[in-house]
Amino acid sequence: MRRRPRCLIVFSVLFAVACGGAATPELQLIEDAAEAMGGLRSVSQTTALTVEGEGRTFRLGQNTRPRADLPYYQVENYLLQVDYANQRWRLSQDRTTTFLTGGPLYGARQTYGLDGDVAYDDAARASDKVAADRWAEMYRNPLGIVLLGLDETSTVSNLREEGAERVVDVVAANGTQFTLHVSAETGLPSKVVSSSYHPNLGDVAIETLFDGYQEMGGLGGFQARLTLPRNYTTNLDRFTISRYSTTADTNADVGDLSAPADVRAASAPMATVTVDVDEVTDGVWRLAGQSHHSALLEFEDFLVLIEAPQSEARTLAVIESARELRPDKPLRYVINTHHHFDHSAGIRAAVSEGLTVVTHRTNQSFYEDMVARRHSIVQDALTRNAQPLTLEAVSSEEPFEITDGSRTLQIATVVDDPHAEGMLMAYLPRERILFEVDAFSPSAAASPFAETLLRNIEDRELRVETIVPLHGEIATLEDLETAVEQEAQAL
Ligand SMILES: [Zn+2]
Repeated sequence: MRRRPRCLIVFSVLFAVACGGAATPELQLIEDAAEAMGGLRSVSQTTALTVEGEGRTFRLGQNTRPRADLPYYQVENYLLQVDYANQRWRLSQDRTTTFLTGGPLYGARQTYGLDGDVAYDDAARASDKVAADRWAEMYRNPLGIVLLGLDETSTVSNLREEGAERVVDVVAANGTQFTLHVSAETGLPSKVVSSSYHPNLGDVAIETLFDGYQEMGGLGGFQARLTLPRNYTTNLDRFTISRYSTTADTNADVGDLSAPADVRAASAPMATVTVDVDEVTDGVWRLAGQSHHSALLEFEDFLVLIEAPQSEARTLAVIESARELRPDKPLRYVINTHHHFDHSAGIRAAVSEGLTVVTHRTNQSFYEDMVARRHSIVQDALTRNAQPLTLEAVSSEEPFEITDGSRTLQIATVVDDPHAEGMLMAYLPRERILFEVDAFSPSAAASPFAETLLRNIEDRELRVETIVPLHGEIATLEDLETAVEQEAQAL
């Protein structure tokens, strides 16, 4: 798809007479923004953008508490190249972790991009949802959104004032909606907002704020210099997810930003869900997934699920497996180990199936909010089948017990776990089986949190024999002790 700025049509008729006299006050705002950025003609003739810099990208849903700051990667050698004429962009950057994971701190080159409706990560095709989000990302900078507003196939409407800003809605030909905020003082774009869908958070606004405007570009040839921002901050809902400090060049040769041929030829990946049922002991099963597992426990009159991870699809499949294993008993509880998004993505689905959520009280208000949030862009299971949240909050001081007289499950906090505050583990004292996650994952390259888990087991005098990790294979207490020793030696 090739886009035509409205202004170029005027040029073709009137030759180089400055365009102006926009048809509507809304278009006038866009044209004025272009003027403030260096001239309507210069902006209209810009088809490529190169942005270089450094910054941080943040790990959404991986903070130590639901409302704590997000952990981040330090980013260097950020390079974004955009080819607006062909609707392509590519981003490459060096990321270094600044937080502990299941592996050592590492630096890694990351490359991803978009070619029309094909998104890719390195050499692998990404999903259509990613492609749609990346298409919108192309317009989260002042040049992109002004070009889109000038495009004759876009609709620009609803001029209004909000504080010291003038605001318009820009709807692209493909239906993607943006809101552009322009500073009344400088006439420069201050913010672009669009909406997206997040499985945990539902309908979310993604906004990118611009500041530190200065003249840049013009290195690519005849092109006039444009006034562009040094600083970009992107927020998803109320979380900052990236922050870059940059310089830019316009109309520099960005080369061919096509997706690799084999990526274009591949079909967009579809999420596949498999549930492998492994019996651990009588009435105890691991419901294994590709990366994230759940566990099912049978009591006299009911069933208990540990963890609703990864996605609605996985959680619904796990619940179905559980009900197939024991069709005569109601599935009553889901125990949620911690709030991290990969471990709580199925909570809404579990609520829609009538399960009571057991979690640490540090997560309570976050889950109340999560269940109440709007999911209109994608109508998830809980939207289709609204159910109230029933939640049992576990405190750090007192273990929570589920028992039927013969089987008892103790749910306790992993005290001082640096991975997540209010991390829960579950223990069957009679069977000597411990369920845990993210503290000890047997196949992980490193186990920085294993020592904390072992200390919690010892402090509570739990006589653990078998460990059922919700990542990796079933292990023993000796395996955990070995991992702690290896970790100590690696330091
Ligand atoms: Zn986690």
